[in-house]
Parts: sequence; C-alpha cells; structure tokens
Amino acid sequence: MKTSTIAAISTAMTNSGIAIIRISGEEAIPIVHSVFVNKKNQKCLDSYRSHTIHYGYIVDEKGVSVDEVMVSVMKAPHSYTMEDIVEINCHGGVYIVQKIMEIVIHAGARAAEPGEFTKRAFLNGRIDLSRAEAVMDIISSKNEFALQSSMQMLKGSLFHLIKNIREEILYEIAFIESALDDPEHISLENYPEKLHEKSSSLCEKLKKLLDSAHDGKLLKEGIQTVIVGKPNVGKSSFLNLLIGDEKAIVTDIAGTTRDILEETISLGGITLNITDTAGIRNTDDIVEKIGVERAKKVLEEADLVIYMIDASTPIDENDFDIIHMIADKKAIILLNKSDLDVCVTEEEIGTYFSDNRKIIRTSMTQEEGMDCFTKTVKDMFLEGKISYNDEVYITNIRHKEAIKDAYESMLQVKKSIENSMPEDFYSIDLMSAYASLGTIIGEEVGEDLVNEIFSKFCMGK
Ligand code: GDP
Repeated sequence: MKTSTIAAISTAMTNSGIAIIRISGEEAIPIVHSVFVNKKNQKCLDSYRSHTIHYGYIVDEKGVSVDEVMVSVMKAPHSYTMEDIVEINCHGGVYIVQKIMEIVIHAGARAAEPGEFTKRAFLNGRIDLSRAEAVMDIISSKNEFALQSSMQMLKGSLFHLIKNIREEILYEIAFIESALDDPEHISLENYPEKLHEKSSSLCEKLKKLLDSAHDGKLLKEGIQTVIVGKPNVGKSSFLNLLIGDEKAIVTDIAGTTRDILEETISLGGITLNITDTAGIRNTDDIVEKIGVERAKKVLEEADLVIYMIDASTPIDENDFDIIHMIADKKAIILLNKSDLDVCVTEEEIGTYFSDNRKIIRTSMTQEEGMDCFTKTVKDMFLEGKISYNDEVYITNIRHKEAIKDAYESMLQVKKSIENSMPEDFYSIDLMSAYASLGTIIGEEVGEDLVNEIFSKFCMGK
C-alpha cells in the first residue's frame, strides 16, 4: 500500500535565522522537484544523488521565486523514516516558512501529525518503540543526566537489555512446550529447579531495573526539594543565593514569606525543584495558616528537605514540630547565621534525630557554607550512582509499569514451582512476562497505544 507523503515545519515557529521543512514519503522527491529550481532556473532535484545538498529557489505555482534555499535529499532506506526525505532549509521568518509549507502541500504533500516522522521510523522497523520514545526524551531533556540517559536509550541500551531478557524467557517457554508435546524425548525431570533458579535471576534483573526508576525519575525531572524552618531564619536569603537574584522577599518581620515560592535550579548537573514554604510555626493569622497547611503537604511529597535553623537563637517547640515532621525524610540541616554568636551546635541537633543527619554551618550574609551544601546534595544523590555508560535507568513511566508487570509474572512462576503446580502454569506466566516486556520495545502493542505515544511528540519530529 502506498503511504502518503507528509510534510512539516520541523523548527520552532518563531522568527529565526533558518527553518527546516521536512518532507517524507514516496512522492517527496517529485513534490519538491516541482517547486525547486537551481540557479539556472532548472528543475533537476530528481536527478540528484542521495545525501547531497543543493542551492536554489522555491517557486510558487506561477513560477515566482519565494525564497533562496538549500535542499537536501536522503533516499530510502537511508533516512530517518527509511523513506525518501527532502529537507528544505529556508529563511526562518514565520511568514516565509508557512508560505513554503503551503506550496509543498499544494504540490501534493499532506501536513504531518505530531511525531509522524518518528512513527514511520518505528513502523518501518528502523527503531523500536523505546528508541522512538528516547527521541522525545532527548528533546525534552532539562539536564545532563536526562540527556545522557535518553541518549543511551536512543543507542538501544534498553532495547538490547529487554530483548535479551525476552530471549531467555522465550527459551523456557519453548522448552516447556516441546517437552509437553514430546514427553518421550524431552524430559521435564529436575526442570522446575532449573527454572526456579532462572526465574530468580530474571527477577533480580527486573528488580534492579525497577529500582533504577526512582533514581531515574529524580535525576531526570529534578529532586523535589523543600526549604523549611521558622520565620526569619534566612530561608529567603538562602533561596536568593541559590537562584542568584532577589526573587524571594527578604524581611526582618517574622512570617512574611507567606506563600510558597517555587524555583528550578541546576546544581552541578542535578536539578532541584525548590519550594520555599511559609515559615512553619503555629499561627492564628488565617492567610499564614493556609500557607502552613500547604507547606505541610509539600513536605510530605518532598524527596529532599532543607531545614534551616537560626543558630544564634535557642531552638524552641516550633523547631521540635519541624524535627518531628521530618524525622523520616531525607534532609540537610543548615545552622544559619553562624557569623553571629551561636548557641545551637551540631551536637545538640544531632541528639534530636535517631540517625546521622547532614548538618552544615552556613551564613547567608557572608555567603558561607554554600559549596559544602552543593557537595552534600551531590553526594546524597549522585555519588557512585550515575554511570552513563553501562547502567540502564528507567525514566519512562510506561516502561516502569511494563517491567513491574513482568516482574510480578516472574514471581508468580517461582510461586507455581514452589507449590508444585503443573508445568503449563509456568508457561502462562512466562508468556505474560514476555508480552509485558514486549510492549516496551513495541512488539506487543496495539495501534491505539502507538498513536497515543506519538501524539505526545512535537510537530515535525
Ligand atoms: P526567612 O523568613 O526565613 O525567609 O528569612 P530571611 O531570608 O527573610 O532573613 C531574615 C533576616 O535575617 C534578614 O534580615 C536577613 O538579612 C537576615 N539573615 C539571613 N541570613 C543571615 C545570616 O546568615 N546571618 C545574619 N547575620 N543575618 C542573616
């Protein structure tokens, strides 16, 4: 069946230096051939070799030149979509880009849907679904970790890992099936023990992947960080130092940071999504109370709590409330105002927690302790954990769900063996693990899911 030839503006729709219109499909070359002339005013695109780029003009249906362009030709199957692709590099004005797009549509192309080029790359078998999704992840990467883990996925790290696990499962399914078909020649004696061992090792692999999802999400989307502490201890000053401008209002009056401020900052390759809460303390002020309730909620959802104390004044019951609230949270404690006479020490704070807490002396006015803070965050979330090259991190919720299903099916296989169930019980759960993992690479997915995944892509990708 002949597929339609699609076209899209692949660059951002704002005035810019250049823009690219991409055309893919069997008619890509004839369509652009009909609207492109070289400097001798000849139409000759159809005679060009693959992977070459050419100077000329785009002309409208009356033959009037509308822009000076460079046109590149990538012939099937050596292109992004595995179809013939022509890309027009034109000037990047919104009007001219749209004009060329209209000319291309008029010449026979249809406007592509979001992600349709990548969808074709997937449907034509150049990349599996995990690699197609990696393309989108690269585009939306906000930090180095997100970029590197997506790049690994685009290179096929997840695909190969999943493919290998599936092959191991398929081997067992085939073995059971053939033994059941031909019991005279293939014996299942001692097989359950072997399968149990194999299932345990597969469960371990799947569990490791599942565990990586937590770190992967944190590092890709950022660590939900919350700053807590009584009013006036220096939270806004700290936030301002981190952000580098005067966004939070710094005042001497307790309780003036009423609402919640949110900021995303990059700290040595890690993204912190920081929330500064209203000073947590018991209060009768209604407006402030709303802030305090929200603060408690934010605290519950936080991956990291930064608890700031004014070390120049003794701690009181409001601090104990906070200490109680963060007892089981990952926290860094800042003993601020260390430039003044201090009465709160690390030893004292240490006694209020049952485990070892990171405690750092800081002074916001002297800008002291910030390097130590950065290092502590890095140690807590990165040290020894991230190696971009050989580790596969699960950062996509769809992949995580599929791995979780497969893991549960494999646990079920083990359980059936432990309960001496008949062999065909093993096959059912092995098949189900095989199918769940298949959805990650796109082997067991329906059209609806494929459409849904690609509909989230950008236009022109
Ligand atoms: P918040 O209410 O916790 O957000 O505290 P602010 O950042 O608004 O600071 C309250 C007051 O304490 C301001 O006058 C700050 O200049 C002052 N302050 C903040 N950090 C320090 C510090 O490390 N040393 C000293 N001496 N004063 C500080």
